[in-house]
Amino acid sequence: MTNVLLVEDDAAIAEPLTRALGREGYNVRAHGTAQSALDDLAETDLVILDLGLPDMDGLDVARRIRSQGLTTPILVLTARADEVDMVVGLDAGADDYVTKPFRLAELLARVRALLRRVGGDLTDEDELVAQDVRMDVGAHRAFQAKRELQLTAKEFDLLRVLLRDAGSVVSRDALMREVWGGTDAAGSTKTLDMHVSWLRRKLGDDANDPHYITTVRGMGFRFETAAS
Ligand code: CA
Repeated sequence: MTNVLLVEDDAAIAEPLTRALGREGYNVRAHGTAQSALDDLAETDLVILDLGLPDMDGLDVARRIRSQGLTTPILVLTARADEVDMVVGLDAGADDYVTKPFRLAELLARVRALLRRVGGDLTDEDELVAQDVRMDVGAHRAFQAKRELQLTAKEFDLLRVLLRDAGSVVSRDALMREVWGGTDAAGSTKTLDMHVSWLRRKLGDDANDPHYITTVRGMGFRFETAAS
């Protein structure tokens, strides 16, 4: 059973969302305040977090969750599109966001993507493809058209995560967690940028005019599904 913790004070959003998640087979625990949600973190596979809560800023809720060492994926709901950079890019620790008003189908797709990311289940991602880049995850091989790419282990993991979510932004935090197994902020930003730049070089991609890996400023990176 997948347990979703929903933190949203607006019943007009929380109630239909709870029903929809329930229909998808998730076990939903809904909270209208930050404090009651923080008291109910055990056994949680995913947090859906509204930023505008009555008793605490949602970003502080995310920070509190991370400060407890929990890597549970956090999907933020925000009406404050101008704060999106802060949510995913800086240290708040959220993994993805949806801006209000959102389409239910989009939110459910994000939920599935986040859970897949942490599940690490390779069976449905044995082969990953976007544009002319193809990865055979099981065989640990990557190709660009017919040419096999010579990647280090970290470059391979990085490409795997980006390709798996091709078309979507993968946050820097998510990449750090999945590829380096932690969110140690100190040296990590530079490490991630270096690996992205090496990967781009091997793909013949130009950071200033990328065909494959686009930098989404303040957030992360997106592997493009179609050449620009
Ligand atoms: Ca609210």
